[in-house]
Amino acid sequence: MQYTVNEKGYYGNFGGAYIPEMLYPNVEELQQKYLSIIQEPSFQEEFNQLLEDYVGRPTPLFHAKRLSEKYQTTIYLKREDLCHTGAHKINNTIGQILLAKKLGKKRIIAETGAGQHGVATATVCALMGYDCVVYMGEIDIERQKPNVERMRMLGAEVRPALSGSRTLKDATNEAIRDWINNPVDTHYIIGSVVGPHPYPDMVARFQSVISQEIQEQLLDKTGKSNPNYVIACVGGGSNAAGAFYHYLDQLDVKLIAVEAAGKGVNSGFSAATTYLGKPGIIHGSKTLLMQTEDGQIVEPHSISAGLDYPGIGPIHAHLFDSGRGEFFSITDQEAFTAAMMLSRTEGIIPALETAHAIAVLENISFKKDDVVVINISGRGDKDLMTYISRKDEFTQ
Ligand SMILES: *Cc1c(COP(=O)(O)O)cnc(C)c1O
Repeated sequence: MQYTVNEKGYYGNFGGAYIPEMLYPNVEELQQKYLSIIQEPSFQEEFNQLLEDYVGRPTPLFHAKRLSEKYQTTIYLKREDLCHTGAHKINNTIGQILLAKKLGKKRIIAETGAGQHGVATATVCALMGYDCVVYMGEIDIERQKPNVERMRMLGAEVRPALSGSRTLKDATNEAIRDWINNPVDTHYIIGSVVGPHPYPDMVARFQSVISQEIQEQLLDKTGKSNPNYVIACVGGGSNAAGAFYHYLDQLDVKLIAVEAAGKGVNSGFSAATTYLGKPGIIHGSKTLLMQTEDGQIVEPHSISAGLDYPGIGPIHAHLFDSGRGEFFSITDQEAFTAAMMLSRTEGIIPALETAHAIAVLENISFKKDDVVVINISGRGDKDLMTYISRKDEFTQ
């Protein structure tokens, strides 16, 4: 079974490029050029240098002794929370801005929901001196003020999407419209392993540095490069794709993907896509998505903005379909509890998204000598207001 993308842009039954005809030139240019560009030695050299000196890689692989003791197994934390800007998202935006430069593009657009991808994009645009427009739903602009101010401080223009529900999907529509109108000079930076081919593969490759480092670091620490488990949360699925990437064909490594159950998978307020979703098309690719009988997208719900997405990257739809990945869903309450627990057990305050990956420790019985790697996708500073304001509700 092949778990990476095939030459047609599919992962098993999922993926492809389902786009309006007016986007063909832009997407075709990327399809034809992305691999040869990112495999060039000069590209790799510049990418790796920036990951090292600017992002702060390699990020540590930390043996969490008190957490291991609590769950009676051996747990390592991959510290993506220590990346510049506080999460893994910058690995991808660094890769894509360098690609944009090689393609001769002059201007960057992006869309953002919670603002984390917008901040990572605005950051690399400032670094490289690029004009940057970030589309964001009007409602999200109100909900995510600190990230909006960060983007502006970094020199990006935040353009409100005023149509529809005025959230992420409307911002995506605006970004696509912009790209259609500016096909020659503009690159569209997508923030997860979603969108038309080649985005899912391109983003997975840029994030694959995570599992590349885990292999080297585990070998160094334990004498073996393969753990028994790799655990990661899944919104669109980029941090999980990066943490799984070099283990996809290592069948002795269990790949655990954790989705947001919200208030419960059957509550009507959930983002557990593999549990609730059916095949359909969203953001230009065929994948699993939460939809009504007649194919309308169902609004997702999660306490964490980064997991609040009605679809899932096609690579994960395939990992689910093929059984290569094991999928769990974690409620808002369970994630909140796990965030408090990790903070007090290891002195690491995780992002709410990441807390879903930690909470799954409660649902799996490990052996004492199992090696378990959890990808700590981001830090919790951005979620502090939620941790404060919902403490009473979630602490019995
Ligand atoms: C955005 C985000 C996620 C979810 O995105 P993926 O593409 O699924 O990785 C997870 N964790 C953090 C900290 C994020 O900012």
